[in-house]
Amino acid sequence: MRRGPALACLLLLVAVAVLIPRVSSSAAGGGPGAGPPAAARSASSPGYAFSSTVGGKPLRWPCEPVRWTVNLAGAPRGALAVLRSAVAQVAAASGTEWSYVGPTTTRPTSAVLPRTAQEVYPPVVLGWTDASSDLLRGQPSEVLAITRTTWAGVRRPDGSGNAALRTAVVAFDRTEDLPLRGPVSWETVALHELGHALGLAHVDDPRQLMADVMPADVSVLQPGDRAGLARVGPRAGCPRLPS
Ligand SMILES: [Zn+2]
Repeated sequence: MRRGPALACLLLLVAVAVLIPRVSSSAAGGGPGAGPPAAARSASSPGYAFSSTVGGKPLRWPCEPVRWTVNLAGAPRGALAVLRSAVAQVAAASGTEWSYVGPTTTRPTSAVLPRTAQEVYPPVVLGWTDASSDLLRGQPSEVLAITRTTWAGVRRPDGSGNAALRTAVVAFDRTEDLPLRGPVSWETVALHELGHALGLAHVDDPRQLMADVMPADVSVLQPGDRAGLARVGPRAGCPRLPS
C-alpha cells in the first residue's frame, strides 16, 4: 500500500514591524551591530530577502488574483486612495493581480487568519487599529504597522515540498500621525507591509523600503524592493499547490 501524501500543514508566519526612523541619529536604520555603510552593503547584497522558503523556493502567492479589503474605521481621511495606490505599485512591480472586494468591518487582528486548511481563504485585511488588536499589543512605540501572513502547503520528510501564501492581515497603528504620502507616510508604510504580504522580509540596506526602519527620505519603491517583488510574482512561474 502506497503511503499517502505528507500531512498538509498550515503555518503562520509573522512579518515583524516597520519602525519609524529615529530622528537625528547617525545610527538611524542601523540598529544593533550596524554594519558597513549602505553603499558598501548594497553592492554585495541583492537588496531584497524572502520571508521563508519551502523546498528551496520562496513562498509566493498562487497565480490567481489576490483579494483584499479595508476596514476604514480609525483610518485617516484619504486612506483608501492611498492603499489603492500602494496596491497598484506592488502589483505592477510584482506582476501580481489584486482585486479589491470592498470595505469590511472585520478588525485587523490575527483572528482573520485561518488556522486550518481552507477551500477558500479570506481576503487580505488592511486596517488601522491600536493596542486593542493583538497584532499591535505590547509593541514598542516606534512600530508603525504589523503584517502577519498565512501560508499552506506540504513539507515532506526529505525537505522538499510546495506551499503558497494564502492570506494576510495588516494592522496600521492609528495612533501614529503620518502624512498620507511622501517619506515615512502611510503610503510608504503600506508599500512595506504589502511587500511582507507578498513574501518579502526585511533587508539590511537602509535605503530600501523593506528596511526594518522606514528610510527618512524615500517615498517610492527602491531597486532592491522592485527586484524582490519581481521574484515573488508570477514571472517566476505559478506555485504548485498540494492537491
Ligand atoms: Zn516590516
